[in-house]
Amino acid sequence: PEDGQSPPWYPSPKGGTDEKWRDSYKKAADLVRQMTLVEKVNVTTGVGWEMEMCVGNTGAVTRLGFPSLCLQDGPIGIRFADNITAFPGGITIGATWNKDLIYKRGRAQAVEARLKGINVLLGPTMGPLGRMPAGGRNWEGFGADPVLQGIAAAQTIKGIQDEGIVATAKHFIGNEQEHFRQSWEWGTPNAISSNIDDRTLHELYAWPFAESIKAGVGSVMCSYNQVNNSYACGNSKLMNGILKDELGFQGFVQSDWLAQRSGVASALAGLDMSMPGDGLRWADGKALWGHQLTKAVLNSSVPMDRLDDMVTRIVAAWYQVGQDDKKKWPAPPEGGPNFSSWTGEKIGLLHPGSDDKTTGVVNKFVDAQGKGEDSHGKLARRVAAEGTVLVKNDGDILPLSRKGWKDAKEGQAKYRVGIFGEDSRLNENGPNNCPDRGCNVGTLAQGWGSGSVDFPYLVSPLQAIYEAFEGVAKVTDWAANKIPKEKEDLLHDQDLCLVFANSDSGEGYMQDAGIRGDRNDLNLQKNGNLLIKKVAEECGNGNGSTVVVIHAVGPVNVEFFVDLPGVKAVLLAHLPGQESGNALVDVLFGDINPSGRLPYTIAKKDEDYGPGSKILYYPNQIVPQQNFSEGLYIDYRYFDKKGIEPRYEFGFGLSYTTFHLSSLLISPKSFKKTLLPAPRPNGIEPPQFDTKVPDPSTALAPEGFQKLSKYIYPYISSVKDIKVGKYPYPPTYNTPPELSPAGGAEGGNPDLYTVVAEVSASLTNTGKVDGDAVVQLYISYPENYVDEETGEPVDFPVKVLRGFEKLHVEGGDKRAEVKFVLTRKDVSYWCTRRGNWVMPTKGSFKISVGFSSRDLPLVGTF
Ligand code: BGC
Ligand code: BGC
Repeated sequence: PEDGQSPPWYPSPKGGTDEKWRDSYKKAADLVRQMTLVEKVNVTTGVGWEMEMCVGNTGAVTRLGFPSLCLQDGPIGIRFADNITAFPGGITIGATWNKDLIYKRGRAQAVEARLKGINVLLGPTMGPLGRMPAGGRNWEGFGADPVLQGIAAAQTIKGIQDEGIVATAKHFIGNEQEHFRQSWEWGTPNAISSNIDDRTLHELYAWPFAESIKAGVGSVMCSYNQVNNSYACGNSKLMNGILKDELGFQGFVQSDWLAQRSGVASALAGLDMSMPGDGLRWADGKALWGHQLTKAVLNSSVPMDRLDDMVTRIVAAWYQVGQDDKKKWPAPPEGGPNFSSWTGEKIGLLHPGSDDKTTGVVNKFVDAQGKGEDSHGKLARRVAAEGTVLVKNDGDILPLSRKGWKDAKEGQAKYRVGIFGEDSRLNENGPNNCPDRGCNVGTLAQGWGSGSVDFPYLVSPLQAIYEAFEGVAKVTDWAANKIPKEKEDLLHDQDLCLVFANSDSGEGYMQDAGIRGDRNDLNLQKNGNLLIKKVAEECGNGNGSTVVVIHAVGPVNVEFFVDLPGVKAVLLAHLPGQESGNALVDVLFGDINPSGRLPYTIAKKDEDYGPGSKILYYPNQIVPQQNFSEGLYIDYRYFDKKGIEPRYEFGFGLSYTTFHLSSLLISPKSFKKTLLPAPRPNGIEPPQFDTKVPDPSTALAPEGFQKLSKYIYPYISSVKDIKVGKYPYPPTYNTPPELSPAGGAEGGNPDLYTVVAEVSASLTNTGKVDGDAVVQLYISYPENYVDEETGEPVDFPVKVLRGFEKLHVEGGDKRAEVKFVLTRKDVSYWCTRRGNWVMPTKGSFKISVGFSSRDLPLVGTF
């Protein structure tokens, strides 16, 4: 890793070694043993882009009752579908810091998936982690910290899989920016290489994936980029070594769409499923697997046992979530996938990617949105409200009152409210005007790309605010970002001004307004700064109060306006999804006391995030190289290390009440206090298969078989194509490395999850109104620590987040108890030399508990 190279790790560890998956593997192996070679290959390979109804579709084994799997995006809802819920963006969900709500959101999303006939959901996103605040897809994930990402990912996965849908932890790994993520969109010979050292990989980027695997995730998606100059979807160290050996992953690795860049090599490196099936070029029908994999097995360049393992992993994941169980997983209404990703019409092409013209009913418009108390819209509204962060509230201008204006002049019956900014209203052409939400027109409620969904409806802030003030205030608006001279009265005749601005980004296959996925800077877009300044200065001729509302994909620079005297309050509403306006009103009026906390740092200057935070906008080499030289020091860890004062720190957010913490209690548990975790336990044996390679003639298409153009099939065209030979395997193929001592179960060595300390504290709501507090626990490693064996100094961040709890406490000095546990992993660091987690046993840990990364009133040691 120091030289930007990735070491080899072969052969691929087999699935079926974990107790929790035992039954599923037994059933899967029984089924796979009955499959022919082409049937097996069919399960591993997508049938090609736009060939069936979903963004990814595998081949079926109809004879044995194993279905074609429908894989569909994505992280915030069901992409390309009708009658679904457009949930808030991942960053909004992260900003709630509410584990229970995150679980419920995952579960609701899976209810929708099930009703639409989806088997595998392509989410949650936890990579990008957020190394670069301008990263185009950061909004799909939960925030710039591994523990926050990990907990949110695990909760989402449990929610999704408890409902019988396979979740996908994506993108593994190091896809921190969109520029140069692959070669074909960016015109470089190969994708960018994220060069990450082993310790940073473990302590930051792989951490949420470890949590996902521990939560039992059925699938992991490998990413487009290279890692240490080897494609993530062909990187044996990452897939065989880290995912399957060390983290004990039992499910299957699927490629991101065309992230697979080799056939045999990726199979040996641990890839299990090729998506969408087309190989090196988009939708060209030329597969790297499909019939090519059949050929590779027949000519012995891919061993039969690798193919058996791929298929068994996929089938086992299907059993593991209970999709074989008709009670747990009733067939979706009117048969599975009952929607088409490719048309909104009822009747459409059955195989639009081919030249086949057969049509049928493709959209059955099944309503998946839940009803009444279980309406997913309600849940989406709750998430959006709880993901809204109040960062400024001078003179307690918020919450607004429905009774009338607090500062009303005598005799003034109604007060005057003005709404300003394009971001307050709907796109005049409808919220779904731009494909995959790839433009920033009207109010921003999602980022763009494969992580977006079609809005069933979108409640604009404008509409919701008008309704909320009905009969209370005189509301007017200028829902544009430039206020012409003749309209300035609208600004001058107000008591209260609400001004809206935003900042958008998305996935790199689209660009909007010069933003090629990653943002170009952290400023508000579309003239937002100047609009806010004008409103703040001129609202009520300088006597009005201005509330700023920002919709954004991540941190924005607020320096231009935040200290203007007219700006009384600032709400960071992130990406609220379909219930945008309603959720905002909930917070503005105090129906919901703001409890969102920043899942990232807001800096005073973009440079304050450090050199590693910069997107590489221009190739620095023929194959762009990005060295993650800042190591562990991203976001708040960087600010702490450099002693930089942020504008608003990670974890920060205001409430309409006040909280107090007291009575910190740290109870170390009795456990074996050794530097290293207990030896790796033995897993169970993986299933055995007959490894005999069948006769090539069995892999020919059945007589009279009609092939569709560009459709991907497992059949070879002629037995003459099979040239059995001694194909070279990677040099270390037959000398497997030692198994990782950090492995042994899902998520790694189980001893890593031994509880080493319990921490509790008492939380009091010292204000008048009820509210939710997010209590955060950070640890600091022993100071000036030197490795107890080698005497080498080990560098640690000033502090790292290790837990959080959201608690509801009634106002008027009511109390609640908050509890945390710390595991061995929480207090260990990754030692590259030992290839293991090491827990300092000398010196003391500092534990800080509080309300943000810089407001930590309780401190103790252990
Ligand atoms: C994205 C994935 C997505 C896939 C399928 C890719 O471009 O990176 O996140 O799941 O497309 O739409
Ligand atoms: C597709 C996405 C995919 C992207 C890959 C788009 O055309 O709609 O699903 O992620 O291409 O570049």
